Parts: sequence; C-alpha cells; structure tokens
Amino acid sequence: MIYPIVKFSDPVLETNAAPVTEFDASLRQLLDDMFESMYAAHGVGLAAPQIGVSRRIAVIDVTFKEDPKAKLVLINPEIIHTEGRISQNEGCLSIPEFRENVTRPKKVTVRAQNAKGEFFEHTGEDLLARAFCHETDHLNGKLYISHISALKRDLMKRKIRKLIKAGEW
Ligand SMILES: [Zn+2]
Repeated sequence: MIYPIVKFSDPVLETNAAPVTEFDASLRQLLDDMFESMYAAHGVGLAAPQIGVSRRIAVIDVTFKEDPKAKLVLINPEIIHTEGRISQNEGCLSIPEFRENVTRPKKVTVRAQNAKGEFFEHTGEDLLARAFCHETDHLNGKLYISHISALKRDLMKRKIRKLIKAGEW
C-alpha cells in the first residue's frame, strides 16, 4: 500500500526512531510498502518516520527503478566511514517544493542490516553517499535543514507556517 508522506513539522520527523529487532513477514511487507510509497512520491530515498513509523528503516534507489540492483534496504544503519566534502542541492519528500545546498561527505560507508537481519557494509559516492547521510539523519530525528544556516532555516520555516495557515501544506 502507498502511505501518505508525513510533512514537516510533524513531531515524528524529529524523534529518534526505535531499532528494529524482529525481521519477520510484517517487516518485509513494510519494506515493500516503503518502496511503493517512495516511488509514488518520486523520491530516491525514504525513511520510515516519513510514513509515520518511528523505526530505524530506510529504503533507497538512486536510479529510480532503472537498475533493480540499486534498490537498497537499510535497517538499523550506522555511518562508519566518510571521506571528502561536497556541497549539492538537496531536498526532502517531507519538505516539498524547497531545496537548499547542503555540504555532505563525498564518500560514505554505511553498516546496516538487510530484511533478513544480516549485517552488511556498503560504500557509496556522490548522490548515494548523500542519501546514506540524509536517511540516517531521518532515523536520528534530524532533517537536512539542520545543516543549513539559521537564517535560511528560519526563512523556510516562516514560509512553511504561511502555507500551513493557508491550508496548502
Ligand atoms: Zn528526507
């Protein structure tokens, strides 16, 4: 099923998500639903809190359906190594219509569990490295706007408050 995407400023997006301990059929169903919801929202990454589920789960496909092998499931992910710095435009399905430049590591190694609970490590560069950071941040209750200047963040929040008031958010 396709879940609606939770938007800023829902508190679930700023909550530290709970670790996954059961690797069962209901988790596999949730992962399928997360991929479906991510593609429906035209995203390349989705964290469980973004569909209102406060658990440490993220799905990523930086090729957006082009390469089935690019589909990645990250359960209880941890960033274990980073290299370099690069500033790129970044957005978030939970903060639609807004984008800002964010400086992130160029190369990132993540350690996580798959749907069966098996540990693996994966190294990504550029967009994939960015997705690893962005999604892991989500699971720690952190949004990309925490990496931009306070001035830009306040301006964005003001615009969002106006949209909420107008019933357009
Ligand atoms: Zn996001």
